[in-house]
Amino acid sequence: MDFSSKLLENAVYEISQLPGIGKRTALRLVLHLLKQPENQTNSLATALVSLRSQIKFCKSCHNISDVDLCEICANPKRDENIVCIVEDIRDVMAIENTGQFRGLYHVLGGKISPMEGIGPQDLNISSLIAKAKSGIIKEIIFALSSTMEGDTTNFYIYKQIEGLEISTSTIARGVAVGDELEYADEVTLGRSIINRIPFEGSLKAN
Ligand SMILES: [Zn+2]
Repeated sequence: MDFSSKLLENAVYEISQLPGIGKRTALRLVLHLLKQPENQTNSLATALVSLRSQIKFCKSCHNISDVDLCEICANPKRDENIVCIVEDIRDVMAIENTGQFRGLYHVLGGKISPMEGIGPQDLNISSLIAKAKSGIIKEIIFALSSTMEGDTTNFYIYKQIEGLEISTSTIARGVAVGDELEYADEVTLGRSIINRIPFEGSLKAN
């Protein structure tokens, strides 16, 4: 792509680094911004810079938060005995939208993936195990997507907490295999949380 302007080329290059956005789409977005009032571009740039400089992760559940302890963890009405294990904030949002879960979350920040070189030490697993050993947690719900990486991660954590007095369950496979949680509709997801099945039972079914 030949650009008549280095400024334009730089902007297009940066935007095309985002997932799912090729050079042509990036060019369309940049030209769109140029047609809009200047303050729209400024607001976009400021939002991104503030996001990076001020974002925090909850010290307890590792969810993205503006404060040290996220709203969910800080809410005394939530049941700290039940912890739902998810991959990232999108899953927290999806499950919160169902209005069917009153426990807390633990955000792993990814899934174990030998192919991508992601091991347990790269994820927020040790803090979960520490929490489990402290005796606060009575039930752990695995809510990772039903992919090979999700299953591997579930099983790794399950092995780590085996022997502790914690019941383990997994959300019922009403959520189609391979579907990411974030795309499940609220009714299906809500139902699968209520009808969660014992984790060991899910292992035998596989
Ligand atoms: Zn939290």
